[in-house]
Amino acid sequence: MHYNLAQLLKEPTGSARDYEVDDSFAGPENDTDRAHGWVRVIRTHQSVLVRAELETQVKLTCSRCISQFELRSVLIMEEESFPTIDPATGRKTDPPEEAEGVIHLDAQHVLDMTEVVRQYVLTEAPIKPLCREDCPGLCPECGSNLNKEKCKCNATPMESPVGISGRVVD
Ligand SMILES: [Zn+2]
Ligand SMILES: [Zn+2]
Repeated sequence: MHYNLAQLLKEPTGSARDYEVDDSFAGPENDTDRAHGWVRVIRTHQSVLVRAELETQVKLTCSRCISQFELRSVLIMEEESFPTIDPATGRKTDPPEEAEGVIHLDAQHVLDMTEVVRQYVLTEAPIKPLCREDCPGLCPECGSNLNKEKCKCNATPMESPVGISGRVVD
């Protein structure tokens, strides 16, 4: 997800580039997480406007049953990005204060979307990921994954919402 905008920056305001995205990036747990969709970059007076609609697919580990599952989410963004080097003069630009956005062009005018997508996914990913809302987790006695099999222990799941105090005692 690296796009060289050197040529676009030489073009008049309103010029645009479209990129199809179907790439992998390093997500929270895997370096094979994927993003799919499109990125459109539009030349504005002093900067570029980056629009994107990406479906991200990341693999997370369920905090109850410790099996991996896929989390999909959609990232829709519109951000202005200022070149760090003026393409006409080759001098360092002095972007306005409020330009401290999430997207930066490097000295070669390369737009790097990987970090933006990664940051987004990190923010979206739950702290305690669950493969499903009511995942029963693992049996505290025998360790069976209660999503897959019913064991004979008849114990309360380890992370039941009521906790230890709410446990039924025989
Ligand atoms: Zn689970
Ligand atoms: Zn068991």
